[in-house]
Amino acid sequence: MGIQLFSPKFEVEECLEEIRECLEKGWTGLGFKTVEFEEKWKHYTGLPFAYYINSATIGLYMAVDILKEKYGWKDGDEIISTPLTFVSTNHAILKSDMKAVFADIDDTMCLDPKSVREKITEKTRAVIFVGIGGSTGHYNEIVKICKENNLALILDAAHMGGTRLNGEIPGKEADVVVYSFQAVKNLPTGDSGMICFKDGNCDEIARKKAWLGINKDTYTRTTNSGNYKWKYNVEYVGDKAHGNSIMASVGIVQLKYLDRDNAFRRQIASWYRERFSKYPEQIKMVNIPAECESSTHLFQILVEDRDELILKLNAAEIYPGVHYAINTDYPMYSYAKNTCPYAEYVSDHVISLPMHMRLTYEDVQYICDEVIKAVVRK
Ligand SMILES: *Cc1c(COP(=O)(O)O)cnc(C)c1O
Repeated sequence: MGIQLFSPKFEVEECLEEIRECLEKGWTGLGFKTVEFEEKWKHYTGLPFAYYINSATIGLYMAVDILKEKYGWKDGDEIISTPLTFVSTNHAILKSDMKAVFADIDDTMCLDPKSVREKITEKTRAVIFVGIGGSTGHYNEIVKICKENNLALILDAAHMGGTRLNGEIPGKEADVVVYSFQAVKNLPTGDSGMICFKDGNCDEIARKKAWLGINKDTYTRTTNSGNYKWKYNVEYVGDKAHGNSIMASVGIVQLKYLDRDNAFRRQIASWYRERFSKYPEQIKMVNIPAECESSTHLFQILVEDRDELILKLNAAEIYPGVHYAINTDYPMYSYAKNTCPYAEYVSDHVISLPMHMRLTYEDVQYICDEVIKAVVRK
């Protein structure tokens, strides 16, 4: 089997117990466990609103779409984003007929505040910040830039489940925070996510838009009595984007263990760092700011010959990953090719080493041995 990049681990019996409740009650859809998960997520994060959806991808799309309508942004208006992310982030901008303007990243792998300032034009409306690998990067400086320039802030927190900044879950400053509970994220379900707006009105719109634009959900209709409870209006041409109770059951259980799991991830990262810090020339590590307690979704390093290292690790039955190939390599973003030199460099040299709950100390030592053997020439 070898050592995989990701390998989610579930609290199986507890998850099955929650799912059993859904099956016995006869309620597997929207409502019931989705509502319970939303309440628990708000309590955990301290964010005022949380709406459970079927993916972070649709959440990011709804985030841009709803803020565009709220603030009256025009087609072709600009959102500053990172080119080094999963394409969901940037597709959200294009899907709303706006323009993705790419700022460069810094040694945290997240947006470089200096580059963001340089990319602001009179058409800039928002910044999307992605906490790569669970890091906050220089998030607080991005918050400041957005305030100074009257820009909206969207936080793609797909990697950031459980991340703290100065001891607190970040995101209260953002207009909207989007989390992913996709199968290999830190809080894994099958597929799902959470969209957390600062403004309750946006949260209400999201709930309608995520169910075809219908202005009453089935749960409300079932729990309300009265003659006209079957009746609803359709206010938007919406999507089918809400989460369901089966997935929420898994989420409710996994949330209980998120901090425990993330602590172990940080332990793994510190084992890696301990070994690699002896080879600063050959192995460059990502800067995690001191005030950030990262969820440690990823452990990334930069090496001279990344592709050769991947082949050598594969030969040793270790299967790393790459986060990410620069998005300007893809046709819809190629207009911005060569505008972000550090992100180009990272795209060619970065590698993500195995990071998950099944790794042992011995696994990590073995991976380190193989990495060091491959990149340190005696
Ligand atoms: C995984 C991921 C997403 C998309 O999440 P889904 O829940 O799979 O749609 C968005 N942004 C980033 C940075 C991701 O890693």
